[in-house]
This record gives sequence, structure tokens and C-alpha cells, in this order.
Amino acid sequence: MALTVVRDTEGAVLGPAALTAVTEALAEHRPVTVIVPSMRAALDARRTLARAGIGVGVDVTCPVPWADALWGRLGDGTALARGADVTATAWKVLGGNALMDGRPESAGVYPGYVDVVATLAGTFSAQLPAAVAAAGDALSPQQRDACTMALALADALVARGISTRSRVFEELPDALAAHPGEALCALVAAGWEDLDASQARLFGRLAARVGLTWAASAHPGAAGDAARACEAAVASEAALADASVSEAPARAAVPAPPRSPELQALLGSVFGGGGAVEPTGSVRLLEAAGPEAEPELVARELARLAEAGAERVLLVTRDPREVWRTVSPKASNRGIAVRASWVEPASDLRATRQFLAFVEQLSAIAAAASQWRLDRAAEGAPDAAAAAEEVLSASVEADRSWWPPRAVTDFLLSELSGLPRDIVFSLDAAWRQNRALSPAAVLSDVARVATQSEPLARTVELVAAGDWAGAARALRPNAQTARDREAHQALCAVEDACVAVDGLFGDGLDPHARLTVLASVLSRMGVARSPERGRYGEAQRCTVEILDPARAASTPPGSVEDVLLCGQTAAEDPISAPHDAVHGLLGLLGLARPAAPDAVARARAWHVWAAPTHGLAVERSLRDASAEATHPSPLFAELLSCYRERPETVTLGEERVSKNLSPQGREPEPSGFVPPLEVGTLSGRAAHLAVMRSDVAGDVPVVSATDLETYLGCPRRWFLERAVPADRLDADFSGLDRGSFAHGVLERTGRELQAQGSFERGLAGDVLSRVFDGAVASAPTGQGPAAGFMPHSVSEESQVRHLKDQLLATLDRNEGSFVGFTPRLFEQTFGNPGQDPVTYAGVRVRGTIDRVDVDARGRAAVIDYKSGNSGGSRYRPEAADDLSSWVPGNIQALLYARVLPQVAPGLDPVAAVYLTTGDDPGVGGMAERGFAESMEGAYRGKTPNVVTPDHVAAASFEDVLARAEEVAAEAVASMAAGHVEPRPRDRWACMGCPAVACEKRIDR
Ligand code: SF4
Repeated sequence: MALTVVRDTEGAVLGPAALTAVTEALAEHRPVTVIVPSMRAALDARRTLARAGIGVGVDVTCPVPWADALWGRLGDGTALARGADVTATAWKVLGGNALMDGRPESAGVYPGYVDVVATLAGTFSAQLPAAVAAAGDALSPQQRDACTMALALADALVARGISTRSRVFEELPDALAAHPGEALCALVAAGWEDLDASQARLFGRLAARVGLTWAASAHPGAAGDAARACEAAVASEAALADASVSEAPARAAVPAPPRSPELQALLGSVFGGGGAVEPTGSVRLLEAAGPEAEPELVARELARLAEAGAERVLLVTRDPREVWRTVSPKASNRGIAVRASWVEPASDLRATRQFLAFVEQLSAIAAAASQWRLDRAAEGAPDAAAAAEEVLSASVEADRSWWPPRAVTDFLLSELSGLPRDIVFSLDAAWRQNRALSPAAVLSDVARVATQSEPLARTVELVAAGDWAGAARALRPNAQTARDREAHQALCAVEDACVAVDGLFGDGLDPHARLTVLASVLSRMGVARSPERGRYGEAQRCTVEILDPARAASTPPGSVEDVLLCGQTAAEDPISAPHDAVHGLLGLLGLARPAAPDAVARARAWHVWAAPTHGLAVERSLRDASAEATHPSPLFAELLSCYRERPETVTLGEERVSKNLSPQGREPEPSGFVPPLEVGTLSGRAAHLAVMRSDVAGDVPVVSATDLETYLGCPRRWFLERAVPADRLDADFSGLDRGSFAHGVLERTGRELQAQGSFERGLAGDVLSRVFDGAVASAPTGQGPAAGFMPHSVSEESQVRHLKDQLLATLDRNEGSFVGFTPRLFEQTFGNPGQDPVTYAGVRVRGTIDRVDVDARGRAAVIDYKSGNSGGSRYRPEAADDLSSWVPGNIQALLYARVLPQVAPGLDPVAAVYLTTGDDPGVGGMAERGFAESMEGAYRGKTPNVVTPDHVAAASFEDVLARAEEVAAEAVASMAAGHVEPRPRDRWACMGCPAVACEKRIDR
């Protein structure tokens, strides 16, 4: 048998040479199979055949599907291996049983090495023995090991009834020759400009066994070098297989398709020294100032082409997925229909990542649940102190690598889960705020919400049972309901991969190892993506097809009106040989691809430039994402070198960000105007919203004591923290959590002492210790004041212990301070919905009074706990000579004292003090003379910072409270007027303020 080489110079998949070979075979009444490099090329070839009036009797296919179909009929009963089979078996062969109980790394197996072995076995197993022998000492021991393992892998596959692609390619020519009926079919290979060594060998051996026509449609210049290199490689393999090689006369060139003179001149000049093409507008350069401007620049060019009447435009890019993401919404908004196609590793699909992350985290949480001892740590402890110790150490030792369970939340938020988003948001907030969250609680929450989506409920059950393939299958209805084709493809790929992996390893694989193997298998499974977007029918202006250069290369010359070539920078479209381990090894084995990378790139570029009849636009960004200047790609430079003068150039800057980002390419219409905050005043609705928020009673704002306190400290800080607050996402063991825990302990201690009728120091210390320990011990239940205060580390654990010491020291320091007064009210709330309204400074107020101590005459001291270390000095009011000009530094306790008669009728306020609970406990504030004087000497070891009304030139405590209310009324009016300028009262006001780069900040 023979290899017959026929050539033309058209540079098409099916040029005159291939068409003649097909028609001659048909004339002999032989069916014809045309083997082309890709499915895209097959589609273009079928169109060419249809235009030539040839349809019946010709099959156009690619090597693997052709071989698969024939091997099923003529092979030895084994199946052609899929990528998933080869990779999964490679893990089994390389990792062996070590994978079953350990992590893949501990077995010395890594995805990169598995990739090398799987590629060698899948593509070259039949050629490896001879290639390794020929390479001799050129191979390192590691490379030789990789080849040995690849051959072991091929054997393992055969033992499973699976043949590698390489084995099928090797055996198929003989099998065909053994079946004369099959051998009748004429084989024509066409459109090849890039192939690997096993494909070259297949074609050579086919020529030797059943005969093959090699149709080479190669440009006579450098653009045809790749096709000629492939032809030479196939001829060499045919000769090695004892085929005669003959050359048919070259077919006459067909007339060039009608294209613009500039494009015709460009094709005549390119790769030949050039420099003579006159720009006439057929070739345009699009230059974006940076990546942000690129999509808009491309979309504008597409709109211009559509406006000019173009019906079909080819958009060629190395990254069709990214161009689809960024350009297609803009194009469809301009009435242009867009299609794209690319092949993507299944592991990169969004739904694959979400599903696997969900499965991994849910499995980890289930594993953590079986080890979790925190909720049982206090069981059997003899007393509260021992129980608290157990809980603290169990909490620090607990595995919380899953907390907060973000992967679970992300999956539940996706459309795949089928859950309403508000349910998931509430669940997420609850999980993230609970530092005592247990894995069992997460599993129970997930099972509970999953009842709202039957597929999700089934998926959760199957994940728990370890059936990940079933879990992926169970979710498919949700992907269908969401009309998410990509998600459906991802779930099918995951299911296939799980079946392949589980079929080999059973259900005993360590979950981490199982995920590693799955990810590796999925990374070698290609998923064809072909999304469409835009208007079709009468509203359609033109159709844009987004392709990569390899797929675009099969477009017949002169078959589209316009081509737009994107991303022509050296970084985005380089020409270089791959330098990975596989390619290095293949080079040493003599199995490198016959056509050099630069020859392949030139051939593809020529096809893209030859495709349009009307115009070619070439786009690049002048700066990259790091604002570094870019360099033109080699082929872009080649194109420019053909010109006498620079072609027409269109530019777009990055300064109009919203315009460049908008799908319509227009500045968004303003829906309102908010004056810049720098002026320090909100107006109209903004001011109204800031003050009123949701806390209103009728049209009267409800203001908290903390609001007023913060506003008086600094209006801007109030605006940032209170009027437009940003909620904390995660409970973070902050001062706020510490403060609320301390408040809770002090409240419970006070109530218990009150119930026992004694506040004696010894008893108080015992009760506080017990309450504190009890709160810590009960924290794992998620109830009580310590729920948000669970230590996750040794340093947090020491903070819990330290807080207990601080609170006991506060008791010591405070003992006997308020002579004749006894605690009566604890954490007394007021002004909240359901409670009587409380008015102050002309508005409704609400708040919580930490403690009220009362004497036998009904005189009351209002006490507010603070966690600072100032010994109370921070809360000592500034002195004043004139009450009317005095402004209280802290208004909270004064406000509480003023409203106390409304909150607890019958009580007469005589003191408004702050009790600090930090390292240096103390008291500060304002009180009637008798109360303040009673503290002198009684306050253990410290001078109290409680002053009398004289201090601010007031006649009575009542006058002080009245003045404070006046100041509060002014603050409320200022708030309502929208004044939010930065105006710090003192350095304390700025401490911990979230304002960024505030020029008024007082640092010390
Ligand atoms: S840093 Fe100080 S002045 Fe600036 S907003 Fe915050 S509190 Fe006000």
C-alpha cells in the first residue's frame, strides 16, 4: 500500500487537492473518510463539501472518534480509554494502597507526576519501548522511571479491558487490513498543520496497510512550513512501515476569493520582508490604554461593523472564556448576537469547584463531629471551676479548620442548592457569629434547610453516605431548573470522575486523597462550552463568533466579512515552545511534535488574516494589569512590518471607568445627587435617613444613649459607626465580645446576690467566680453570655482567665464604696418596642442601664460599666466656672440618671458614675455632694474620680442633669440638621474610630 501526497497552495482544510482526492474516490464508487484535526475543522470541511455539491458517501471525522468507532468493531474487545480512566488508573498504579489510608503526598505521588505518566501512557505507550531504548543515557533515572511507570500503567489498563489511544492507533491499521470490507474505504487526511508523533505514526502505518491520501493545502511561503513539516513526518513514518510514497501532481490554485485590495496585499506581503502595503482602512489597529478599556473598545468595533452591515464577524482570542465574559454582554446590549466555543478542563468549571468544596467541607465537618468533645467536656466535672477548665482546654484543642463553614455557605448560596438566598444569608450570619458553633449543629442546620429542596436533601444524604457520584447526579434537577447548562455539564463530569475513581479504589479512600485524585481526573476531562447570547431573528444586527486561533484556523479563506483579533501583546500571544516536564521528556525520546511552535503560530495567523474579505481589526492593550507597558506580539509586529505607514488606529482610555464598565458603554444616568461628605453636612433625605433609620416612633426619632454619646464625641464618627454601620461578619473575640460577656457575668452575679440578700465581698467573689465559670462551661451550648467569647487559641484562653481576675479585682476595689446603697436593678432596658416610651431632649430614647444602687430613702446611683483601664479618671468630668458653658465629656450615665424616674418611678437619682473593670478598676462621674463625699476614704486604695456639682459651678445634681439634657438637645438638633463633620471632643473620641485618613484625628 502507499502514501499518496497531493498538494495545493490554498491553505484550506479542504483545498483543491483534498476535494480532488475525494471526488476521484467517489468516482471509483468507494466510500471516503476524511480525517481532519478537530471537530471544528470537520464542521468547516462539511460546509466546503456541501458548497462543492458533495454530500453522500463522505464521512468527515477526527482521529479519536474515527478510531473509537472502528476499534469497537475490529478491536480485541478492549475499550478505548477515556482521559478519566487513564488518570484514575495512574493514581492507582503510582499511589497504590498508600492512598487508601494516607494522603497522596505521603505516598510520594503528586498531580504533576501523575500527569506526566498518564500523558506518556495514553499517547505514546506503543512507541515508548523503542524510544526509551534509542534515547539511552540521555534520560535521567527519574525520566526512565516515568517511562517504566507509563508502561506499567498501559498494562494495568489492558488488564481492566481498556486500551490506550496509542495502543489503538498502533493496532488499528493491521485490524483494518485484516478486514477487506473495511479497507475498501478511501482514507484522506486533510488540513493537518500540527500533529503529535503518535498521530504521524498512525497515518504512516495506515498508508502502509490500507493506503492513505495525504492532502496538504500549504501556503508556499513561511505560513506553509507547519503543513510541510507534518507531511514530512507522515511520509517518514510511512516509509518506515514499508509504504511506497508517491506525489500526485500539484492541484491548480483556485482564484483568490474577492477581498479588499489592502487585505490581498497584506497576504501577499506577509512573512516575506513586506514593507509595501498601503493602509486604506481595511486593517485597523485598536489600542486600549489598559485592560479595563479593552472590552469596551472591542464592543465598539463590533457595533461599528454591525452598523456598516457586517453579518458575520470572527472574534479570535487566546482566551475565549474571558472575552465571552467581558465582551459578550456589551455586544448583546448593542443588538449583536454572540456565540463562543472553547474547551475547558472540568475542574475549572464554577459548579465543579463549588460542589467539590461543599462535599469536602461537609465531609470534614462530619469527621469533626465524630471527634467533637467540647459539648461533653463539662460532663462529670465536680464543680463549675473544673467544668470551665475542661471547656476552655477542649475549646482550644478543638479542630475548627472548618469554621466558619464558608464553602458550605457558598454552595448553598449558588443556584445549584435550590434554596432561597435569604435563608442561607441568615444561616451564614448565625454560623459566623457563633464562636461556640459545633459541627453537629452545622450538619443539623444543613439537613434542616435542605428540606426546602428535594434534590439538595438527597445530595446531603448521599454525601453523608460517601456516595459523591450519586450526590452529583441528585443535584442535576436543580441545574436544569436554573437553566444552567454549565452546571449540568459540571455535575455530569463530576459523576463520571467519581465513578472512575470509586470503581478503582472502592469506598475506602481517605477523603482528602479522594478529592486530590478527583481534582486531577477532572483537570484532564475537557468540557466543550458553547454559550450563546444576544438577539436573534429580526432584531439581530450581526453574529459574532468567538474562537481561539487553533479553531479559527480551519475557517476557509475569504469566508467571513470581518475578523477581529484580540489580545495581541507578547504576554498574551507569545510564540514559545512549552518547557514542561512532558515536552522535555518527549524531546529526549524523539517524540516531539514535528511542526515547530513558531511555524504552527505563523500558519494559524495566516489563516486568521486570510479569512476576512472586508476588514481585519487587531486589538491590544498598551499597558497590562500592573500598568506596565506591553510589547506587541511577534505576529502583530510581523503584520505591522508589512506596512509603509501605520494603519488606521483607534484608541480608548481608561479614565471613564463607569463608561468602560457599563454594558451599554454609557455613563450611568444619575438617579439622585448626594453632596460630597467633605462639606460635613447631610441634607434632605440623606439627613432624614441617617437620623431616623428604622428606629422611629411615629415621626419622632428614637435615639440611643450610645448614639448621643458617640455624636458628642465626634459627629463624623457617629455617622460612620451608628448612622451607616457596617455589621461585623465574624465573631472575632473583640473588646465588644469581652465587654458583653463581662456585663452578663456582673448582671447574673448581682441578681444572685440580691436573691441571697447579701452583697458581702467574700460571698460576692464566690458567686462571681461560680457565675463566670458556669457561663464558660455552658458556652458550648451556644447559650448565655460566653457563646460569642469562646477561645479558639491559647492566647484567647489566657484572655478569658485574665478577664475573671479583672472582675474579681473590680469587686475588691469597689467594696464599700457606695455606703448605704445596695444594687437593685441590673441591665434595665427602657424605650424599646413593647416598653413605655421614654423622652429626653425632645426625642424618644432607649438604652440599657447596667446597674442602679438604691439607699433606704430611695436615692439612686446610676452605674455604667466600662472595660477601660483608666482607673475611672477618663470619666472624671472637666471642671467649669460656668454651668451654661459646660459640656459633659460623657453623657450616657447623666442621661440614664435623668430618665430614671420615668424608667423606675419612685427613685431619686443622686449619682451618675462609671465603674471601670479593666486592669486598673476605678469609678468616675458626677454625684450629689453627700454621695461623693461618702466615697472618700471608702474607695479602697484609690481616689475616686467622682466630683460634685460644685465642680461645674452647678447648685445641684439636678442642675447638672438639666444642663446635660440641654447639651443633648443641641446634639439632636445638630444631628437632624445633618451635621456630620469630623469634630473630635478629645483623644478618646478618636480611639478606635474607623474613619480612614481623617485629618482631624487626635492621636495623643
Ligand atoms: S478620627 Fe477622630 S476626628 Fe476623625 S472622624 Fe474619627 S473621631 Fe472624628
